[in-house]
Amino acid sequence: MNCFDCTQQQKSTPAVAICCHCGTGICPEHLLLTTEEVHHEAGTGPAWGKRSARRATCRICGGAEHETPTT
Ligand SMILES: [Zn+2]
Ligand SMILES: [Zn+2]
Repeated sequence: MNCFDCTQQQKSTPAVAICCHCGTGICPEHLLLTTEEVHHEAGTGPAWGKRSARRATCRICGGAEHETPTT
């Protein structure tokens, strides 16, 4: 799979990640990595503490403002 955003620009760059929102391939240039803390509702069981979940999105779904969506 190639990066979807690069394909829009007539480039073909191998994707290194998949956008978790729209499912398109993303190259390192267009990749947006965010981390979010996952909170476990620990009842009486052992709490795992804070863990960081990694979320990979394309820049469109990540809300980057300097990228103009090509519609
Ligand atoms: Zn790209
Ligand atoms: Zn996306």
